[in-house]
Amino acid sequence: MKQDVIKFDNHIYQIDVFMENKPGRMSCYYIDSSNPILIEVGPSNSFPYLISSLESLGINEVNRSAMTHLHLDHIGGIGHLVEKYEEHFVYIHELGLKHLPNPEKLWKAVSDIYTEKWLIENWGKIKPTPIDKIKTLNDNEFIDLGSNRKLQAYHDPGHAKHHYSFYDDVSKTLFIGDTLGLIYPHGNFVQPNLPPPDFDKEILFETLEKFEKLELNNLALAHFGIHKNPYDLITNAKESIEVWIKFIENLPETSNQEASAIMEEWVRTNYEFLGIDKETIDNYTNNVHFEMQVAGIRNYLLKKKNP
Ligand SMILES: [Zn+2]
Repeated sequence: MKQDVIKFDNHIYQIDVFMENKPGRMSCYYIDSSNPILIEVGPSNSFPYLISSLESLGINEVNRSAMTHLHLDHIGGIGHLVEKYEEHFVYIHELGLKHLPNPEKLWKAVSDIYTEKWLIENWGKIKPTPIDKIKTLNDNEFIDLGSNRKLQAYHDPGHAKHHYSFYDDVSKTLFIGDTLGLIYPHGNFVQPNLPPPDFDKEILFETLEKFEKLELNNLALAHFGIHKNPYDLITNAKESIEVWIKFIENLPETSNQEASAIMEEWVRTNYEFLGIDKETIDNYTNNVHFEMQVAGIRNYLLKKKNP
């Protein structure tokens, strides 16, 4: 089974879990401290890749993991994880208590957008997680990694109200999930990720400004990888989010579907204008659901108009 694991300083491993069987789409992380932890699990269909990568590192047992949020591309494999490792438990936002033991609602929310057939083929069926395997997080809570190392959990609800990011005080890495946006190989810029129903610019910017005050060496994104220019990327993300909102705000009345086609064309043209190579542009624009982005931004604009 193919593997792509990159070792970073301070015993951090970036694991490509080949989401949708493609490289460079979803990364999980493993911090190999004296009290180790896995960050993210990825969708169900990625689970064999995750396990084979861990085993290639000589890791045959993982007792705990931390999930950034409850979207299925991040947590789809949790049921498999707690089944495989008897002692395993999962840190997650308190909504996990409601949805992980009964994941039908999470499943329906995504299959309504992507269709159930797509979901089964690409992300895979999910298994419920027993309630006693779930540990809910609190804002600013510390997760002890042993050897005077800890992860601090920050509740950061701009992308999804159940989102947490995790800050490692030794490597100065912020595991930021989907809060920043997307950076696909081999781009060096952030593409916004602003889905309904929770995207809220003011809340998201408040969080990003809080993160800018941390001492940061790296940002570890779920989609995709570890990046060493954290402050530039946060500035870049904020600028792009502003531009995307303006674009949707200024569109004439159109359906979300029509708007998403116009938006995709506009995003591609912008990237071409910036001199980005075609492969990278394809990587960024083919792996995004533009209609969901339109819906997320319109939903935010509507909330702002009618609070
Ligand atoms: Zn995601």
